[in-house]
Amino acid sequence: MNLIECRNLALGYNGRAVLKGLNFNVEEGDFICIVGENGSGKTTLIRGLLGLIKPLKGKITYCNLKKNTIGYMPQETHVDAHFPASVFEIVLSGTLAQKHFKPFYTAVDKKNALQKLSLLNIANLKKESFADLSGGQRQKVLLARSLCATSKMIVLDEPSNNLDAHSKAELYQLIIRLNREFKIAVIMVTHDLDHDNLISDKILSLRGKDFFFGSTKEYVRMLHE
Ligand code: ADP
Repeated sequence: MNLIECRNLALGYNGRAVLKGLNFNVEEGDFICIVGENGSGKTTLIRGLLGLIKPLKGKITYCNLKKNTIGYMPQETHVDAHFPASVFEIVLSGTLAQKHFKPFYTAVDKKNALQKLSLLNIANLKKESFADLSGGQRQKVLLARSLCATSKMIVLDEPSNNLDAHSKAELYQLIIRLNREFKIAVIMVTHDLDHDNLISDKILSLRGKDFFFGSTKEYVRMLHE
């Protein structure tokens, strides 16, 4: 079953398209990597999928989910590392997306946040200050936060940026588990699509006004032709 359908989609700014003619679906439980050079429109596409910018042309249809129940994990560098908040507060704030940003938390929200911390094995960091964490720990916190908004789909913007090989492998294992075990659809913008990182089922590759959408196998075959 489809979660999102994009038809003849054009996205951009001030009437000028960065991407156009995009056609693809996100199905339940999909794992899709978005790849492309700097400036190819990866972030623009994420903004479009999250409903933060409106299509210039074409249509995005949300079939079995609401826009505000897509979990979003921003690039770590876009989060103010000195923000004086505890890990628990940051994870809990992930529940706000569904409440039209009214800052009231219920007991259910708090339980939900604690569950997500446990799921990612970081319950022990609950009271720590975000500013004191390592890069790998911060990424897990931001992942737990994104999960508070959803049970169906997360969008991750370069989650392995600035991580060492060990932290990167650990984070990918968690993301794979969320996808396989909990059937959460994953859309992940990534820079390092190398051999040990061909973890998605499908790839959306943005190249100027041209794009590829298909299976990872097909994509790799195409690269070697
Ligand atoms: P990527 O994430 O692949 O690096 P972006 O989606 O950030 O690419 O950018 C694609 C193009 O859109 C770039 O040419 C960039 O300059 C332009 N762009 C990005 N954000 C804005 C904005 N807020 N206003 C105008 N142009 C933008």
